[in-house]
Amino acid sequence: MPDIPPANAPSLDAYWMPFTANRQFKAAPRLLSAAQGMYYTSVDGREVLDGTAGLWCVNAGHGRRQISEAVARQLDTMDYAPSFQMGHPIAFDFAERLAAIAPGGPAAGLDRVFFAGSGSEAVDTALKIAVAYQRATGQGTRTRLIGRERGYHGVGFGGISVGGLVNNRRVFPQLPGTDHLRHTHDPARNAFSRGLPEHGAELADDLERLVALHGAETIAAVIVEPVAGSTGVLLPPVNYLERLREICTRHGILLIFDEVITGFGRLGAPFAVDYFGVVPDLVTTAKGLTNGCIPMGAVFASRAVHDALMHGPEAQIELFHGYTYSGHPVACAAGLAALDIYAGEGLLTRAGDIAPDWSEAMHSLRGLPHVIDIRTIGLVAGIELASRDGAAGERAYDLFVDCFERGLLIRVTGDIVALSPPLIAETGHIDRIVSTLGEALKRLA
Ligand code: PMP
Repeated sequence: MPDIPPANAPSLDAYWMPFTANRQFKAAPRLLSAAQGMYYTSVDGREVLDGTAGLWCVNAGHGRRQISEAVARQLDTMDYAPSFQMGHPIAFDFAERLAAIAPGGPAAGLDRVFFAGSGSEAVDTALKIAVAYQRATGQGTRTRLIGRERGYHGVGFGGISVGGLVNNRRVFPQLPGTDHLRHTHDPARNAFSRGLPEHGAELADDLERLVALHGAETIAAVIVEPVAGSTGVLLPPVNYLERLREICTRHGILLIFDEVITGFGRLGAPFAVDYFGVVPDLVTTAKGLTNGCIPMGAVFASRAVHDALMHGPEAQIELFHGYTYSGHPVACAAGLAALDIYAGEGLLTRAGDIAPDWSEAMHSLRGLPHVIDIRTIGLVAGIELASRDGAAGERAYDLFVDCFERGLLIRVTGDIVALSPPLIAETGHIDRIVSTLGEALKRLA
């Protein structure tokens, strides 16, 4: 028998952790070993309230038996099947179930579903579909992809190229022919807004600048997160998304909403498309698609986009793209069970019911040391702290470490705290999030 170290004392050497300062972490590791409902358990046996639904993904809370049983059944029945030239019923079933709740409802027609293995893969898939669509409709010069500053679209080369985060970009080459809209974050005009920021709809007109600069006939698509999550909960100003849609339509540019975070109930509607009433041509999802328990991503495509790619000779492959794990049967089983839970417990709209209390609770932190803005929407909050001189991100990181010691998991990005608890959160959990954060903020002072 190999010498297996006990679960609570793993060797930390071999695992090269993603998105983590490895040396710092391994000097003082924070390890989680179990999860149930709204709580994690740390390896030293402490209960940690999950203020972030894992990473914006465990929407129905942890340890859902319905999902684990469905996954186990599927593993026993058929663990894997090839993803091309062969199909399996469960992937078709899952796509149909997703189509039935597709962003924007039946009128939007976003009911053709392409499966991927993660959010990053869903983004690359959507970008490629957009370019392929333009070519299929005789507009092969339209290859340029437009993202937005402070956008996050995963870590594929497509995603970092349209993304707007310098740390994701500075070391790596980008796709040629990408450009970026200005971001919409404007605390000088919009700090402590209740609801969507009032100022900034005109920032959508930045797309007109890029059209004038590059020519509409070179632009395939624009991709934005309706609500930017990973970069600090940046909300779209009133009318911004509407205006972006209008400009895209006028210039024949496809609009992609990256709903990896906002999909599956985070804002209080099934998708941000439903929440804002603005219909893009493609929507990327992941995370809540399987309640976070099995990696999976998906792209919802409009029928117009899908059908344009279905023309051509019968035996021709319409979109030469896909993954070994596209439509993975076990992920589909998890996703179907997650959809059953979401429907059975009303979770795709529940955030809307608790949003007023959530917003009130979060805004009660106004006035505490270093808090310079608070933004809320659905069951999401961004709390922005003033940075320490010359040490951006340090203050929020200290808060994160302190909150973890106090039994609360938060997420920080730069000096912004992002909160997104599971959609099953009750008043008691929200109270605990606020009181723990309040104490930690006061201590930080
Ligand atoms: N798009 C958005 C908007 C995201 O928030 C994320 C992940 N946080 C991604 C894409 C990438 O997803 P993944 O990490 O599953 O590749």
